Amino acid sequence: MMDKQIEIEVRARKALDHMKPYSPGKPVWEVQQEQGLERVIKLASNENPLGPSPKALEAMKQALSELHRYPDAQSLRLKQAIAIQYQILPEQVIVTNGGDELITLVSETFLDDQDEIIVPSPTFSEYAFGAQLLNARTIEVPLKANYEYDSEAILAAVSDRTKLVYLCSPNNPTGTFLKKQDLKHILDSLPKRVLVVVDAAYSHFASDESYTDGLSFLKEGYPLLVLHTFSKIYGLAGIRAGFGIAPEAIIQSILKVKEPFNVNALAQAAATAALGDVDHVHKSQQLVWTEKQKLYHALGKLGYGYTESMSNFILVELGEHAEKIYEQLMARGIIVRYGKQWALPLHIRVSIGTSEENESLLTALSEIGEQGYVGQKSGVRSS
Ligand SMILES: *Cc1c(COP(=O)(O)O)cnc(C)c1O
Repeated sequence: MMDKQIEIEVRARKALDHMKPYSPGKPVWEVQQEQGLERVIKLASNENPLGPSPKALEAMKQALSELHRYPDAQSLRLKQAIAIQYQILPEQVIVTNGGDELITLVSETFLDDQDEIIVPSPTFSEYAFGAQLLNARTIEVPLKANYEYDSEAILAAVSDRTKLVYLCSPNNPTGTFLKKQDLKHILDSLPKRVLVVVDAAYSHFASDESYTDGLSFLKEGYPLLVLHTFSKIYGLAGIRAGFGIAPEAIIQSILKVKEPFNVNALAQAAATAALGDVDHVHKSQQLVWTEKQKLYHALGKLGYGYTESMSNFILVELGEHAEKIYEQLMARGIIVRYGKQWALPLHIRVSIGTSEENESLLTALSEIGEQGYVGQKSGVRSS
């Protein structure tokens, strides 16, 4: 035990004073312990309910006996596989310890004190985290009433200090996306010194024709970085792997701040195999697309509003009793994300699970509704 009498005079950097900790979805074991439940369903972190690609599991087994060696500092095999898949050069790729690390690296590379980043609101919190870490400012541009992107407002927010514009598409937590022509408009209007980061973590779930992850614009020469992850469709959230694609000069700059062995050997092996497992990707897409329609239908019948999603989660409007309903779901061992962290206190975000998991969620919502926590009927918001 530490002696409580001793006062620690060592001070952390000023920039950290106002840092908010990331609030992750509660892990299954924690809810099992807290609620004393055996069966817990996690629909809180947009993971792939089908699990990892079997090919990735096999590749990791093969890699186990080489774990006394340092991993490849460049993740070369994985980089090459990505380059082939996306028809780009390996020099245009950086592999990272999850997409989150890439956001931190991008922040470290481009943000000086008091520089600005532009983000939609609400969105993924890691962009603001990266900015705060570097004592840069986050300029939030609200989405429109239906959670659509507001391109003009984004452009109007640009200043002399703007370095990065983050466009999360499909956006977490709303599931809405930025249309291709709107991305082009933004790219054409921005000063060329501004780097656009398209966070395409959920790109595989986007089925709308006007969706783009931005890669075609990158190939046309726009200053753009496309972020991808192995945590969502590939089902590898636990091993930590992600990557970015950008013009070579941008990648070269980011490589300067990268730790040499940022991606572990198992992650490299798993991700390389998962990338080639087309079957697993298709199955995962099909599950999400089928289940999404079932959830829309059932949520509508329960009287809850929802936002049409191009992703593997749905933002559901439960109304004034949202927090109570969220707590009741928790008590039943169903973990979803309460919207308060995005200033959406009437909402929850539910990840689309297996058919069984979604059924359990709907049954629970229906039973909780019968106890009196019924949401106000709020019309479906479609994107
Ligand atoms: C999950 C997610 C990522 C990447 O997560 P990692 O697990 O760090 O790869 C990036 N952006 C968004 C919007 C996400 O939801």
